[in-house]
Amino acid sequence: MRAFVYERVPDASAATRGAAASSATTSYLAGGTTLFDLMKLDVMRPQTVIDINPLDRTAYGRITVDQKGLRLGALVRMADAADHADIQRQYPVIAQSLKLAASQQIRNMASLGGNVLQRTRCTYFRDISYAACNKRNPGSGCAALEGVNRMHAVLGVSDHCIATYAGDFGQALIALDTSVDIAGPGGMRTIPFAKLHRQPGEHPDQETTLRPGELIVSFTVPAAAWTRRSLYLKVRDRESYEFALASAAVALDLRDGTVHDARIALGGVSTVPWRAQQAEAALRGKPLNEDILAAAAGAAFADAKGHGHNDFKVDLGKRTLSRALQQAAALEI
Ligand code: SF4
Repeated sequence: MRAFVYERVPDASAATRGAAASSATTSYLAGGTTLFDLMKLDVMRPQTVIDINPLDRTAYGRITVDQKGLRLGALVRMADAADHADIQRQYPVIAQSLKLAASQQIRNMASLGGNVLQRTRCTYFRDISYAACNKRNPGSGCAALEGVNRMHAVLGVSDHCIATYAGDFGQALIALDTSVDIAGPGGMRTIPFAKLHRQPGEHPDQETTLRPGELIVSFTVPAAAWTRRSLYLKVRDRESYEFALASAAVALDLRDGTVHDARIALGGVSTVPWRAQQAEAALRGKPLNEDILAAAAGAAFADAKGHGHNDFKVDLGKRTLSRALQQAAALEI
């Protein structure tokens, strides 16, 4: 690992000031479970690492559940949110998306803010012996397009990058219309979680809409009729400590067997947390029978594009979504 300067900051304004001054060469440190990995692999090379963990005594480290909804500080550890009784009861899709990610040891360390910003697991991105990676080295090409791409995305891809978004929690957040509070050198701002990540397009290296020096403070999930009938289904090569081949975060407002409203997000198949609004529209006002499930799954993957090894993800993704919706409908709440 290359040498770097370590700074521990007392408050958010000191952190954002310091990071904004040298944003190209500065990284924030929370749990460090992605950052140190990528520094050891020489993929990330920050000259300064700003440790923001002292902020966990403030809103950054709190979980609040009330009538308006759920607020999760960005420095809350994955394990603490996954094990929180109110979240498990009122927002099960969130608790499950966290519980099904990584290992217990990693969940004990990793922060929620770091989790949504984790980098892709694309082998060609993480191994610097491959020269062609537009995300790591803009303009160098994409080794995955003609390479081994079984784990890669089929939704939101471009001719410049097909890397899969690695997270699970992000799918639960985008499904539930979450907003994100962000602190920066210019003050606070709030954006929909759906606007946090960028699809790769022509610039795969630009992964989020965060501005230089900005920090995620918290996530706010509004209370809604569908949050309790929600779940996260994750299909992977092994049942523990593995990334998704396909996943679905679903939430249903079901009344007398008819879908009054639905929220759907897909993971393991897309370049960013993927809200499937066409699938939601296909369900609204309909009974949840086989034909409607097939129509919703078809709508969710209508624009999917495989690259050979990952073609199977289209059918797998459809089946995963159908099963998640059936399981959500069967929940006794
Ligand atoms: Fe790099 Fe994206 Fe191509 Fe992977 S898929 S090699 S991250 S450009």
